[in-house]
This record gives sequence, C-alpha cells and structure tokens, in this order.
Amino acid sequence: MQEKLIFYYSAMKGGKTTRILQKLHDLEENGQNVLVIKPQVDTKGSDMIINRQKESRKVDILLKPDDTLLSEQYIKKIWYAHHILVDEAQFLEEKQIEELWEINKNINIPITCFGLKSNFQGELFAGSAKLIALADEIVELDSNSLCPCGAPAKFNARMVNDCFTMEGSEIEIDGANQDITYVPLCGKCYFDKIYSKKKMKKHAKKEE
Ligand SMILES: [Zn+2]
Repeated sequence: MQEKLIFYYSAMKGGKTTRILQKLHDLEENGQNVLVIKPQVDTKGSDMIINRQKESRKVDILLKPDDTLLSEQYIKKIWYAHHILVDEAQFLEEKQIEELWEINKNINIPITCFGLKSNFQGELFAGSAKLIALADEIVELDSNSLCPCGAPAKFNARMVNDCFTMEGSEIEIDGANQDITYVPLCGKCYFDKIYSKKKMKKHAKKEE
C-alpha cells in the first residue's frame, strides 16, 4: 500500500496542537514509532510541542532552514519511523517539503503535516504552498477558532499595539514580541477590517 502525505491546516488558535498530540498518542498506543519534526524557526516552546492545556511532547528533530532531512544526521531516525508528524509545517523550506515527499514516496512512510495555510497578509506560506502542490490529501481541520463576529476563522490577522497591520516580516512568532498579537478572523471581517483598507490606501496614493 502506498502511504500518504497529508496536510492538515487551520487558522491560528484552532486547536491544531491538541490534534497533533492526540494523533501522536493514538499512533504510539498502537505501537508505532513516531518521529516528530518541528522547524526551529518556531521558537515557541523551543524543542517541545505544547498546547494551551500545557500537554507537551519533545520533538525528535528541530529542523533548521538549511538542514536537509536526507542527511546522514537524520536519515537513520527516519528509517526507523513508522510515521512522521510535522508541526508548524508552514515554516519549512520548499526544499524540505520536497524531501518529505521523497521520503513518503520512496521509503513509503506515512507523513502527516499540520500547519497554517496563509500568513497575516493573506498569502500562502511557501511551505504550505508546496504542501498543497504535493500532498495526497489536504484537509481543513474543524476549527475551534472563531472570529469575533462568531463565524469560523480562516485568516490570521496581525495586530501591532492593538492596530491591525499588513506590514512587517512574514514570521513573527506569537508571544515572542509583546507588541504583536494575532487575531483569527473570518473572510468577511479580514476583508473589511484589513484588506479593503490596504486597497483604499493604494488608491489614495495613486490620486496624490
Ligand atoms: Zn468575522
């Protein structure tokens, strides 16, 4: 049987980490040797995966942006794995997603990736775009994440000092900088509160 590469995504604060820990628990209870990978860029929890209920698991590979999964350093660990789980997969490099695909298709290890689809500017993360291109299944998680209007959240809006912004670098880890917070929003609220304002600004500039 050909095992699958699966990408589960949700907005922030959608209970993603709890789902990973649950999946991990289920697999290990079935005697599976699970290899857990997280990008080092996600400094939250350092080498641990921690949900808001403070349940946690140490990761097996904390992957740096220039690391290759097919290197000698990691390949033995990968070889012995029955299943690979990836947390915060949006932060992986495109090359690393390709390596996961190669591991999945060549060594036939099932790989389950969890992550965000789009960044605070409403654009796909490079890692997520590559996953959407290559994964056998792309699944939106039933989200616990609600927009302030009550609709399910799809977007991750960034606030700096309590104001929504479209400016700044793509990666600002939640909680690392006290001035920056994230608010999950539905499509309509994201459009109204952020996107339409950015467009208006552009038009205003043209008319100057
Ligand atoms: Zn809304």
